[in-house]
Amino acid sequence: MTKLRLWILAASLTVITGCGTDASSKSEQVSIEPQKTYRWKLITTWPKNFPALGTAPEKFADSVRVMSNGRLDIKVYGAGELVGPFEVFDAVSQGTAEMGHGAAYYWRSKFPIAALFSTAPFGMTAQEMNGWLYFGGGLELWRELYEPFSLIPMPAGNTGVQMAGWFNREINSLADVKGLKMRIPGFGGAVLEKVGGVPVNLPGGELFTALQTGVIDATEWVGPYNDLAFGLHTVAKYYYYPGWHEPGPTLEALINKAAWESLPDDLKKIVEVANKAINDEMLAEFTARNNAALRTLIDDHGVEVRRLPDDVLAAFRSASSEVLEEASQESEIAGRIYKSYMDFYASVRAYHDISERAYINVR
Ligand code: CA
Repeated sequence: MTKLRLWILAASLTVITGCGTDASSKSEQVSIEPQKTYRWKLITTWPKNFPALGTAPEKFADSVRVMSNGRLDIKVYGAGELVGPFEVFDAVSQGTAEMGHGAAYYWRSKFPIAALFSTAPFGMTAQEMNGWLYFGGGLELWRELYEPFSLIPMPAGNTGVQMAGWFNREINSLADVKGLKMRIPGFGGAVLEKVGGVPVNLPGGELFTALQTGVIDATEWVGPYNDLAFGLHTVAKYYYYPGWHEPGPTLEALINKAAWESLPDDLKKIVEVANKAINDEMLAEFTARNNAALRTLIDDHGVEVRRLPDDVLAAFRSASSEVLEEASQESEIAGRIYKSYMDFYASVRAYHDISERAYINVR
């Protein structure tokens, strides 16, 4: 029985019996703290209110506030408002903020294997990631990996398959990738490096200027909906697909362990369910809005959409296998995460070959 229910029961009994004194009621209320308000800070790696990525944590906070009747009040901060976008992991780990929202592949410098909880080049789609995380043992391993940092991770959004990105250099063969300076995070960056490119990791808010000033030759970001919002089509010539490097990145909510443990069970459940809600809703939003944004990019802005050549994709695929296997060697847990991901992927892929893929090819 939750503390709130106990309190309601105690309050009802007081009303029914009509003999509770002020003193006894108060002592019961204080001991179970039914109306304690928790005020949390949630820091993000996204520009404030950026479509879908940044609005998801805002929706999460709104839902939690309503569902908890104001008892868990979470204020959301955009990148740079409290800490820099890439400082979210450490800041939540240290308790500077109780929660964060970002993506596990941003912490590649700490432990490359964490990227598997976001996305792997030529890896699982959003649907498959959810299957692995919720029902295939993925979430348990993710929690184990973050445990030494006093962090509890939860899936909290997915963009679906992304675009390969915006290029100011034509990519006609693998030779065009040599020396290409491209913003590309996670394993995708390591793959680019293996085939002769130069990966750069920049937060979203810096992409436009970096591309405009020629600091980078290309950038990936998300897909038409988000890319249009950043205006990337005004500073790059070609829009390439498919997003081989990010076939369904899961975004993450990070919760400081001490803050989590301070919550009563009903608020913990509200946080869990609200994160599941944005995990689901973000994918739906991208699915709905990417189509319209792609039409705008092509029809109104004359964007040239191109497919990456087969030899480039083949080189990326081959390098991806090497990069993932190297990351699996880093530690004992890295090996277990890699094996869990790969085993689930092989299994779900066999079924999706005769279900999702077979259907999409014949519809
Ligand atoms: Ca991306």
